[in-house]
Amino acid sequence: MKITDILNSKEPSISFEVFPPKQESGLESVKAAAGAIAAMKPSFMSVTYGAGGSTSKLTVEVASDITNLHNIPVLPHLTCVASTKEHVRGMLDQIHANNIDNIMALRGDLPKDGIICNDYKHASDLIADIRSIDPDICIGGACYPEGHIECEHKSDDINFLKLKVDAGCDFLTTQMFFDNNIFYNFLYRIKDKGINVPVLPGIMPITTAKQLSRSVALSGTSVPERFRAIVDRFGDDPAAMRQAGIVYAAEQIIDLIANGVTHIHVYSMNKPDVAKDILAALNGIVG
Ligand code: FAD
Repeated sequence: MKITDILNSKEPSISFEVFPPKQESGLESVKAAAGAIAAMKPSFMSVTYGAGGSTSKLTVEVASDITNLHNIPVLPHLTCVASTKEHVRGMLDQIHANNIDNIMALRGDLPKDGIICNDYKHASDLIADIRSIDPDICIGGACYPEGHIECEHKSDDINFLKLKVDAGCDFLTTQMFFDNNIFYNFLYRIKDKGINVPVLPGIMPITTAKQLSRSVALSGTSVPERFRAIVDRFGDDPAAMRQAGIVYAAEQIIDLIANGVTHIHVYSMNKPDVAKDILAALNGIVG
């Protein structure tokens, strides 16, 4: 099933993300976590792609299990910064062979060792190439309500986003944000530039202070005072921090739904317990 068909539905829904193991030895535990999340019947699940493509085979393997074993629509990710065109064709073959209808097409972070492949420069190049190979596959792309960390001006970032959508991107998923007003403002700005594909807000439940500092350092996402106060107060108390982080994410989701957003993607990070608690907090609102 295509993600765009899910996003066209008017019923509120939640999707979850998992990431593949770094090594083959971790595959069974990731598959078990993905299976436990799939059992909660999310609208779909995404499976990230290891930086530099190190876990590319495992991404499709976990994704195949989710859709072919657990019957949940799936969105495997693919990054191109270190990929050749040949590798991308091989990945598409695997995706087709596993009856998967969707792909999230990304550039990926620039590798620290500086080894890049010049077949694709930006995600828009990857999207155009995938679209030329498969006119029917549903392609997702990433977007950044606060601007991508490498881009100096938000307006440039949105102009590049328009190129990405025009290259054949069917929907967008956002980087995490902790202030919904930033997302609402972003929606106005992209509409103004003629970007009309569905935009799926990405919400990350923060359950430890360390997770917050790591995520913020990587993405440049801003932390509102209200959330910073929560982390200052509960950061040293694991149970309290976990509970406060889940409530904060659930409140963000409720506000989004109240403001007319129907579909929300949750960065559940291979944690079925977090996915379960988020859904419990939305009981009566979603599903
Ligand atoms: P692009 O769209 O290519 O943008 C990258 C930068 O280049 C931006 O600053 C943009 O403004 C600029 N740019 C774009 N086009 C042009 C142009 N034509 N000329 C000049 N500048 C341009 N990483 C992973 O390794 N694996 C994953 O599975 C993964 N999943 C993700 C899922 C989501 C929803 C998000 C938001 C991010 C994800 N990432 C993942 C991280 C992502 O790979 C990084 O943020 C990466 O740095 C940018 O990828 P992109 O696809 O947005 O790149």
